[in-house]
Amino acid sequence: MSDCLFCRIVDGTIPAQKVYEDELVLAFKDIHPQRPVHILVIPKKHITSLSTVLPEDADILGRMLAKAHEIAVDQGSPDGFRVIINTDRVGQQEVPHLHMHIVGGPDPVGPMLKRL
Ligand code: AMP
Ligand code: ZN
Repeated sequence: MSDCLFCRIVDGTIPAQKVYEDELVLAFKDIHPQRPVHILVIPKKHITSLSTVLPEDADILGRMLAKAHEIAVDQGSPDGFRVIINTDRVGQQEVPHLHMHIVGGPDPVGPMLKRL
């Protein structure tokens, strides 16, 4: 069994509130939402961070971005949203499995979020 938290969400051994899934990516609600809409989009394949992406991962990264608007609208952020990918130590990434935050809601999200 993987000891990666988000790999365990992918394989179903840790529960999550899934909102979108296809063959490449999974999206679920952040457990500590920072805004009314706060979704994490992750690759189903384990990729540690943006610093370890391989050329062949381009389709996965494209899918993560290409689905952001659809997921945001579906979750209650119809008029825009923000995406954030914290990366490694300087980016203060806490979970070492690549993930894209989608934050939004009915109202503007405000200045750059201090901490996601
Ligand atoms: P980051 O700081 O960019 O690595 O963000 C990690 C995010 O994962 C945080 O916003 C956490 O609230 C979120 N998180 C941690 N554990 C879980 C979980 N089991 N289910 C959903 N979200 C989680
Ligand atoms: Zn993983």
